[in-house]
Amino acid sequence: MLHYRLFKEINDLFASGRDDQARRLLMEIQSRSIALHDEVNLLQTRLKTLEEAMRLSCNLFRRNGLYWLKAQDINLGPFCPHCYDHEGGLIRLERSKGALHCPYCHTVITRPSPLEDEGYEATGEATPRARIIPFAN
Ligand SMILES: [Zn+2]
Repeated sequence: MLHYRLFKEINDLFASGRDDQARRLLMEIQSRSIALHDEVNLLQTRLKTLEEAMRLSCNLFRRNGLYWLKAQDINLGPFCPHCYDHEGGLIRLERSKGALHCPYCHTVITRPSPLEDEGYEATGEATPRARIIPFAN
């Protein structure tokens, strides 16, 4: 936070001929302004991220256990329910051999009906992506 009393102090120092002290205070103000600028940039980035997440959640809907994203006149998706529910990630499911497959968490979702985007049912938990290797003693 900038301390506006410093500006008056700097002015008084220059007026009384103590230029070195005034310059030191100016450098301190410069340093504080740079830190403030960095903080503002960080907060703007966080705000933008939150606004995008908010916009996304307003257009995201769940149908038959799968996530879809409303985009103008079409629905994008389907997206993996496991990835979105656990990590907030939108991972598009891939179709293969009458089932949907998540390329990230490897959840397999089968569909009992031939309808294009309805009637999908999740079967089983996702297979783990990585093995946990205990530390050696
Ligand atoms: Zn997934």
